[in-house]
Amino acid sequence: DSGGRADSLDKHSDARWPRQNSLSMKEWDIPYDDVKIFEVIGAGRFGTVCRGSWHGAVAVKLLHVLPLSDDGSLLDTFKHEVSIFRKTRHENLVLFMGACMKPPRLAIVTSLCKGMTLYTHIHLRKDKFTANKSVLVAQQISQGMGYLHARGIIHKDLKTKNIFLESGKVVITDFGLFSVTKLCFGNNARGDSLGIPSGWLCYLAPEIIRALRPHASLLLPFSKATDIYAFGTVWYELLCGEFPFKGQPPESIIWQVGKGVKQSLANMQASRDIKLTDADEFKAQLLDILMVCWSYRAADRPDFPSLLNTLQKLPKKRLARSPSHPVHLSRSADS
Ligand code: ATP
Repeated sequence: DSGGRADSLDKHSDARWPRQNSLSMKEWDIPYDDVKIFEVIGAGRFGTVCRGSWHGAVAVKLLHVLPLSDDGSLLDTFKHEVSIFRKTRHENLVLFMGACMKPPRLAIVTSLCKGMTLYTHIHLRKDKFTANKSVLVAQQISQGMGYLHARGIIHKDLKTKNIFLESGKVVITDFGLFSVTKLCFGNNARGDSLGIPSGWLCYLAPEIIRALRPHASLLLPFSKATDIYAFGTVWYELLCGEFPFKGQPPESIIWQVGKGVKQSLANMQASRDIKLTDADEFKAQLLDILMVCWSYRAADRPDFPSLLNTLQKLPKKRLARSPSHPVHLSRSADS
């Protein structure tokens, strides 16, 4: 896609950091000592996020950096990703404020999200999301993601842990920083084995699953369509309150997804808000969104604007339900 092409053009041109670009990069360079760093909020695969202060409350993601290779490729990649990050301005995306770009202290400074992540809501607090609320959340995710894609940016790590909910407003974090963070940390791989962080697999589209190899993280075929697949998983979590393939070993998930077998939708019957008494049509529409996002072929997945359109056209779930005959949701989820 055009985003990927623009990326690789930039990266491989001789004038990798033309004067104008390096000048404007300076505007985003925050001296590390100017940032007050407070307590650790959490540690992810690639860095530690701390609460901090820089002209007000901020979140500081300190990247775990391995010793720099002599050619400075890590720093270049980091700067390249920062140059992408700084172009984002959307109310459903975390506000990028700047970056500390002097190794070995590489850090990204963003606004501090105040709410909780969707992950915390769904999986830890077991909060109930009605179908209507799920639709509102999904619409905002589609809006933020549609904006990113329109700017040629692929998120590469869309998941409920990276989506905050602040009084009903969705804020997406952690976009576009996959290569530098992977560069810092490899693929968690040890020897010839694949290091797969738990909770990551179910967001990976079949084409990524099929490309998984030890140490191949930078070559994984991320695309706009793989972001859509990940959105499908977020949609499933919103509707069902759990991860797809829950409790199954990674090998089994890899085998199934790689072959095009999808999570069965039978247990959506257990979903809190989608009761058997709901009208067929409404449920079918919710499930269609899931199925189309999880399409085996990337080309069959929708883009975010059309997804948003579908979500906006969904009827509000009727509160008074007609006692229609039970509807079975256990239609085949296999492709
Ligand atoms: P992974 O590294 O696998 O993506 P993760 O998403 O948990 O895992 P980080 O993105 O490094 O890891 O985040 C670590 C913690 O910091 C998480 O609890 C996350 O919710 C929190 N966090 C990240 N960004 C912000 C932010 N802008 N405001 C508030 N909290 C944040």
